[in-house]
Amino acid sequence: MRATDTKTLASAMRVLSAEVESEDGIANAAIAEAAQRIDDLGALANEMAGMLAHDRALPDGCKACAMQKRLAELGVVV
Ligand SMILES: [Zn+2]
Repeated sequence: MRATDTKTLASAMRVLSAEVESEDGIANAAIAEAAQRIDDLGALANEMAGMLAHDRALPDGCKACAMQKRLAELGVVV
């Protein structure tokens, strides 16, 4: 199963934070903060992935390529 991309996930969390009914609003606030954190970390990871990109093929086991693959699998880099 492919991971949901970060923008879609954060957007879904924002909808949930607005619609979840909790008496004290703590659940709403926590979900809203999580949505913002997903957005912020996604943007940061995307920027870092761009810094890892390289034109020349590096030897097998390249840590930069492995990191980009993991970020793609997490739905951060599309
Ligand atoms: Zn590489």
